[in-house]
Amino acid sequence: MTAKRNIALVGIGKIARDQHVPALAASPDWELAATVSRSGTIDGVESHTDFAAMLAARPDIGTVSLCMPPMPRYAYAEAALLAGRHVMLEKPPGATLAEVHALQDLAVRRGVTLFATWHSRMAEAVAPAKAWLADKTVLRAHITWREDVRKWHPGQDWVFEPGGMGVFDPGINALSILTDILPKPVHLAAATLFFPANRDTPIAAKLTFSGGVTADFDWRQTGPQTWDIRVETDKGTLDLRMGGNRMSVDGTEVAGENSIMGEYPALYARMALLVATGQSDVDLAPMVHVADALTLGRRVIVDAFDF
Ligand code: NAP
Repeated sequence: MTAKRNIALVGIGKIARDQHVPALAASPDWELAATVSRSGTIDGVESHTDFAAMLAARPDIGTVSLCMPPMPRYAYAEAALLAGRHVMLEKPPGATLAEVHALQDLAVRRGVTLFATWHSRMAEAVAPAKAWLADKTVLRAHITWREDVRKWHPGQDWVFEPGGMGVFDPGINALSILTDILPKPVHLAAATLFFPANRDTPIAAKLTFSGGVTADFDWRQTGPQTWDIRVETDKGTLDLRMGGNRMSVDGTEVAGENSIMGEYPALYARMALLVATGQSDVDLAPMVHVADALTLGRRVIVDAFDF
């Protein structure tokens, strides 16, 4: 067995604690050697509050995983790449497309790995769905992604600040699956965006793509949460439920499980492979659709929102 590689986790908040720390604790590939966060720490792990100081103090940490919100992430990613470290980005990979292109160029110039992760692509049923769709003609598809922002982003005002993407923060997970599984790409044709009267990003969105594809994103759903994608083809109907973790064809379950807990271990296994083989993985297709929605979207003002 090869030695584990040292990794630092940066931005110790909700997703770092919920998913990254457990995934790293169980990983055969990675040793969580340090954290960097202004206030967050993990018991038993060396903690820093200053990123530059950690990079200088720990040249043995070759990889950093950035878990802070997208707006502040670019400066951390740039500093890490300039310091010759491999970088793993939470989704969405940045606040703008151009800044992620700049990071891609920098990673190439520094000869290090950049991995823009899409955790939903690692959901159990996504690969089987892609394989099933590969030889079909898609007639229509619809995404229903409705969840409770208070449950998943409690008190996180950054999601409603410019660059926070609003309901596209979860919606981009659906788009990461869609762009992976469809046999032919689609593009956005129209969007209606629902902005709370007191906020800068949408709380709901309705999207129409080419190829008969539509989407309904809403952050105001209380009670049961819905993360479904239905794809109607010339040879039957595929349903993905539970955020890509369960799959049925014409109503019969064919793949998947009820847990999302495999997604982050799979991301870290992929990062280990990318680093070992000297590759990068940056696919901006999901983010292009979000940028296009914010470009094309018709604005509707709805009730003010407070946590
Ligand atoms: P969060 O808890 O609000 O933020 C994570 C940490 O980032 C914070 O605890 C904070 O740590 C640090 N941070 C916040 N603002 C910062 C700034 N301006 N500069 C430097 N550090 C800052 O957010 P989260 O829910 O973990 O989401 C982070 C990312 O993960 C997002 O891109 C999100 O889309 C993605 N994600 C979230 C979830 C979820 O369920 N919430 C699921 C999957 C993916 P310190 O104050 O200690 O510095």
